[in-house]
Amino acid sequence: NLVVADSRTCLVIGGCGFLGRHLVEDLITRKWKIRVFDVRQTFDAPEAVFHVGDLCDKKALIAAMQGCSTVFHCASPAPSSSNKDMFWKVNVEGTKIVISACKAAQVSRLVLTSSASVIYEGNDILGDDEDSPYATNPVDFYTSTKIAQEQLVLRANRVNNGRLLTIAIRPHGIFGPRDTTMVPTLADAARKGKMKFIIGDGNNVVDFTYVKNVSHGLILAALALEKNSDLGGQAFHITNDQPILF
Ligand code: NAD
Repeated sequence: NLVVADSRTCLVIGGCGFLGRHLVEDLITRKWKIRVFDVRQTFDAPEAVFHVGDLCDKKALIAAMQGCSTVFHCASPAPSSSNKDMFWKVNVEGTKIVISACKAAQVSRLVLTSSASVIYEGNDILGDDEDSPYATNPVDFYTSTKIAQEQLVLRANRVNNGRLLTIAIRPHGIFGPRDTTMVPTLADAARKGKMKFIIGDGNNVVDFTYVKNVSHGLILAALALEKNSDLGGQAFHITNDQPILF
């Protein structure tokens, strides 16, 4: 049976995570019709339909995507994990499955949460733009899989007879309410007395974006793709404003 997609109906993969949940809440505020797909359910919202499943399960994904015009992909194993097989399976093989499911379910837009680390080689970056090449020597295995993931998504632009448009948004560190990674890790390090060292000359550059701004950026990306299909196949860095100098 053909299900006609409403342009404001979406699936948020990883919608029970830190960023994903904020995105779901912001989409609810904007009156989108939302399905959430995640391996776990961490909250409830009467406005959303929850599907608990693994994104490597194509059948389950296709079922959750029925009638969706937009898929937001915000799922990933935690960057702190040392499980390389899991990173590869979810971020790379899983993303191939996401793309394939988008094709099968006739989805129009796939919005990926990528990472600014995909261009980071270990030296400060100031003022670069999206023309910067991918890192040839990524800082860790997680980042290697984010590069492969982003390339897969951007190359899938206009597959399915031109129907699927893809875009990637690249935040760096994300902070805000319910952050389980960045601020708790820093606080834990401080508690253990590990914050008494300065790496480099103390002027290192790092960029953080408030979680609501990342969520806003993802929604704007979906809306922009709807208006201008030429944006498809491209990645965009996202930040609050100026990088924070330590
Ligand atoms: P998170 O760990 O809070 O959320 C990720 C969610 O993905 C979790 O709810 C998890 O259950 C789900 N998930 C993991 N494997 C899955 C699978 N196989 N099938 C279905 N769901 C699965 O992480 P986050 O901080 O919200 O990150 C969201 C996205 O943003 C990720 O793609 C991450 O790479 C990217 N990102 C995060 C940051 C940051 O600072 N948090 C920075 C740059 C990019």
